[in-house]
Amino acid sequence: MIQAYAARSAGEKLEPFDYDPGALKDEEIEIDVEYCGICHSDLSMLKNDWGISQYPLVPGHEVVGTVAAVGDRVSMVKLGQRVGLGWNSHSCMHCEWCMSGDHNLCVTLEATIVGRHGGFANKVRAHQEWAVPLPEGIDPAKAGPLFCGGITVFNPIVQFDVQPTSRVGVIGIGGLGHMALRFLNAWGL
Ligand SMILES: [Zn+2]
Ligand SMILES: [Zn+2]
Repeated sequence: MIQAYAARSAGEKLEPFDYDPGALKDEEIEIDVEYCGICHSDLSMLKNDWGISQYPLVPGHEVVGTVAAVGDRVSMVKLGQRVGLGWNSHSCMHCEWCMSGDHNLCVTLEATIVGRHGGFANKVRAHQEWAVPLPEGIDPAKAGPLFCGGITVFNPIVQFDVQPTSRVGVIGIGGLGHMALRFLNAWGL
């Protein structure tokens, strides 16, 4: 059983909630959650702001933890390795998008807290592809936001081929914007 915190209906408080995740799939991993950030999308999902929430709802999609179990065909991460898990947790791995590095556009994409249970728990599961190995030297207690807000602002730097000679404006220095500034600064801008 996985021990989690869930809201039983829209706007309710989080309360202890245990669930049986079933057998681990061949390409899935189970993560022992060490830390999990909280993102405004967790609050939106808790309140069903987008009309896609299913209850009991276990939020949490800024997970940092270690790989506690691996499915039979897992080769990308190792037991005990520290990984992060963000908004998405599964995709088909054989469509044109998954095969070209744009897994986030896969039509079978599964979000970590939409129709499945997230990281406000002692364990959470994901397809191995969506578990991002965490380099040594990053404080695991602070790394969680990299996997949601962080990738959200890092992705366009790559997608738009931003160069160190570019000029980039960041509008809004909040949860995402402050990370954008730090990435852009490290990028040489
Ligand atoms: Zn988020
Ligand atoms: Zn796909």
